[in-house]
Amino acid sequence: MSKSKSPASTLHVDSLLAHGGGGFDQATGAVVPPIPTATTFVRDESYELRNPGHLYSRDDNDLFLKTESLIAALEGGADSRLFASGMAAIAAVARLVKPGGTLLAQSGIYWGTTLFLRKHCARNNIALVEADASDLEAFQDEIAVTRPDLVWLEVPSNPFLKVADIAKIAAHCRQENALLAVDATAATPLILQPLSLGADLAVHSATKALNGHSDLLGGVVTTTDAHSEAWGLICEERKLAGAVLGSFECWLLLRGLRTLSLRVERMNGNTIALAEYLEKHPKIQTVLYPGLASHPQHALAQSMMSGGYGSLLSVQCKGGREEALKVVGALGLFQRATSLGGTESLVEHRFTIEGETSGIPENLLRLSIGIEHIDDLTADLDQALSVI
Ligand SMILES: *Cc1c(COP(=O)(O)O)cnc(C)c1O
Repeated sequence: MSKSKSPASTLHVDSLLAHGGGGFDQATGAVVPPIPTATTFVRDESYELRNPGHLYSRDDNDLFLKTESLIAALEGGADSRLFASGMAAIAAVARLVKPGGTLLAQSGIYWGTTLFLRKHCARNNIALVEADASDLEAFQDEIAVTRPDLVWLEVPSNPFLKVADIAKIAAHCRQENALLAVDATAATPLILQPLSLGADLAVHSATKALNGHSDLLGGVVTTTDAHSEAWGLICEERKLAGAVLGSFECWLLLRGLRTLSLRVERMNGNTIALAEYLEKHPKIQTVLYPGLASHPQHALAQSMMSGGYGSLLSVQCKGGREEALKVVGALGLFQRATSLGGTESLVEHRFTIEGETSGIPENLLRLSIGIEHIDDLTADLDQALSVI
């Protein structure tokens, strides 16, 4: 099936997004695409497909192609593939490493990724090395020593908001013939484009800010090279292993993407304002946010990101687990729920989820900042922090 994606466009991404990737439904002229519901497509009397692009919907459908082409354009990539969840996308990339191979992953990243990689690698005789990617020299040494097949980064990392130097790590990966994949979910492609910094693959949980309304699961992988062996395997993996997105979810995702630039702008503005407010708050011990001048990789973040630093931040309250849970319990506008990137602000006590062995501080709260009025968010945090 031939695809033509990310046509050279002179429009700003905000405009591409506002038009949901552009164009109209050829059959009806509708400005919003229909939801393709058919799973199978007919052949004519001589057994030729009536439409050569349409055979069975596990392969592809027009709505996937449209949405993938929009995301590839946002990423500055050559091609994208949607998956049924962020984890399905991550699993498809991780399965590029064959048994006997080596995978070097950044430590202290999204817990679901860490758990999956540990279990998957252990079961499949793949050596998994976890290392702190914000320590550039040590991480480069790991690449040289372990000679991994795949290097996995998350920028900024969830929930520690660490920032790895994608360009320098990419250069080392090239030297060692390692593929570099970067999960930039917490930033969005409007702020960080790993492919332009030298990564081979950019990965997102579309469940988060890309969709932005906390009402679907989805994932997406984008490549710089649509003709590479790795990309062929990822496409094959989706089609044959079958972790495809539902058409309705894809339709919702494309609808959500129409407002991505507005949401990202507001969420980022709110987040930097809250980070600065919290940094001065007497009940807060530390604020982890790459947009703050006090963040150890602030200059690096500034050089890699544009238009903000994402809508995820973590704080460590003064005191321990008890104090952190008191604050969480007192919040009224922030919802106590996992996930991030939605219009509504969320708070999570990660220690309760990940437990003792994960190394998460007991007083850490992860905040996902939404599009509410900044004064309401500040007031909610202010009253909640006053209980400790
Ligand atoms: C949520 C998340 C994922 C997993 O995505 P799902 O859509 O929940 O499967 C992966 N990486 C990061 C950074 C995430 O925040």
